Amino acid sequence: MTILEVQNVKKIYTTRFGGNQVQALTDVNFTVEEGEYVAIMGESGSGKTTLLNILAALDKPTGGQVLLAGKDTVRIPDGQMAAFRRDNLGFVFQDFNLLDTFSIRDNILLPLVLARKSYPEMARRLTPVAQKLGISDLLDKFPYEVSGGQKQRTAVARALITTPKLVLADEPTGALDSKATDSLLRLFEQINAEGQTILMVTHSARAASHA
Ligand code: ADP
Ligand code: MG
Repeated sequence: MTILEVQNVKKIYTTRFGGNQVQALTDVNFTVEEGEYVAIMGESGSGKTTLLNILAALDKPTGGQVLLAGKDTVRIPDGQMAAFRRDNLGFVFQDFNLLDTFSIRDNILLPLVLARKSYPEMARRLTPVAQKLGISDLLDKFPYEVSGGQKQRTAVARALITTPKLVLADEPTGALDSKATDSLLRLFEQINAEGQTILMVTHSARAASHA
C-alpha cells in the first residue's frame, strides 16, 4: 500500500517585500510504500526541511500535490488538520523539541493527552514503547537530566506512541555524538523491521546508508 505520494511539488519562498525569490523545491516526485525506510539526502540548504514541512502540511506547496494515507493534505479543512496529523504522523527533529517543564513520561504521552485518550490506555501504550527504547528507568526525569541520545529516544517514543502510519525525521542524528548516532540508527532499523514506515531527511551519508 502506498502511504505517501508526492507529485510535482514545488516551493518558492518570496521574501516579505516581494524582492527575492528562493526556489527551494523544483518538481519533486516520489512515493513511500508501507513498511519502507526511506532516506532523502542533500546538503544544507537543499530543501529538506521545506519538503518535510510540506509533507506534514505545516506549510503549503507553491504547486503540486501531497497524498498522505490517500488524502490530499492541501484539501483537509483547517479544523481537521491537527487531528489528521496526530493520527497519521510522528515527528522526530534534530533538536528533539521536548518540553522542558514536562517529565520524560509526560513528553511521551503528550500526543495521547491531546487525543483525549484515557489514562489506562496511555499507561498500556507507554510501557512497551519505553521498554523498546530503553528509557523505562528515565520516565520520572526531566529533559535537562538526561543525555542527548536519551532525549532523542524520548522524542522517538513520543513519535511512536500514537502508532502513526508514517514517521518523519528531520536530521534526527544532527545533534548527537557518534555513539548516540549509531544507537539511534540501529533503533530506526529495528522499528522499521517491526513494520514502522519511516522517511528521514539528512545531510549525512552515514545516516542515509542505514535506510
Ligand atoms: P535544508 O533543510 O535542506 O537545510 P531548507 O528547506 O531549510 O533546507 O531551505 C531550503 C532553501 O529555502 C534555503 O535556500 C533556505 O534559505 C530557503 N528557505 C527556507 N525557509 C525559508 C523561508 N521561510 N523564507 C525564505 N526562504 C527560506
Ligand atoms: Mg533542514
